[in-house]
Amino acid sequence: MTDRKDELAANLAKVERRIADACAAAGRARDEVTLIVVTKTYPASDVRILAELGVRHVAENRDQDAAPKAEACSDLPLTWHFVGQLQTNKVRSVVGYADFVQSVDRSKLVTALSKEAVRAGRELGCLLQVALDAGESGRGERGGVGPGGIGELADLVAGAPGLRLDGLMTVAPLTGEYAGRERAAFERLMVLSTDLRRSHPAATMVSAGMSTDLEQAVAVGATHVRVGSAVLGVRPRLG
Ligand SMILES: *Cc1c(COP(=O)(O)O)cnc(C)c1O
Repeated sequence: MTDRKDELAANLAKVERRIADACAAAGRARDEVTLIVVTKTYPASDVRILAELGVRHVAENRDQDAAPKAEACSDLPLTWHFVGQLQTNKVRSVVGYADFVQSVDRSKLVTALSKEAVRAGRELGCLLQVALDAGESGRGERGGVGPGGIGELADLVAGAPGLRLDGLMTVAPLTGEYAGRERAAFERLMVLSTDLRRSHPAATMVSAGMSTDLEQAVAVGATHVRVGSAVLGVRPRLG
């Protein structure tokens, strides 16, 4: 193996062990949690190595970086998740490669995603990004809809041609009442997910937990964790 492949294999094994331990501690089966590796800022060659090592889900947060990477990796058996703040003028490009958009947070974006999904003849999985630092009806600093806006946005996605409502996503807030309280933040997301499933029973995905807090997310019931730096290394620049 190359040095990079060795390094990624070792990091992946560590993350896999952490997920397995967290599942065991919570009395959950390992297959209840899906690992999504966040490859943002890292090259297509790393994505290729990850696929060789058995990774099946990858995520990106900027279309400019993601579009060429997904193109270069289109021969690989990967599911692509878009997890970044998304401008409507990037929607056509993102719908070209993303299987899931986890950062749906406003009605204008739903309309644009629906239009492009229909145009492309695709069904796009959508997660609503919930901002837990926004107050009930505000918007998050880094995107996301406040808890009070979930119901209306969910109905909009569920009724939009080309879109499928799959669940909720959050990023542990750096400010507000949940700052430094990742587990409490993820518990709140689980409650919101339970509420959502009363009217949308198929929206079962709960995407929470990153490199530093995946254990807390798995402990409370997350179905998907999004792990970047613990697999690929500390990112060379902000992203
Ligand atoms: C970058 C990013 C991650 C991964 O973060 P790490 O701390 O590198 O694991 C997860 N989710 C989103 C939305 C991200 O932008």
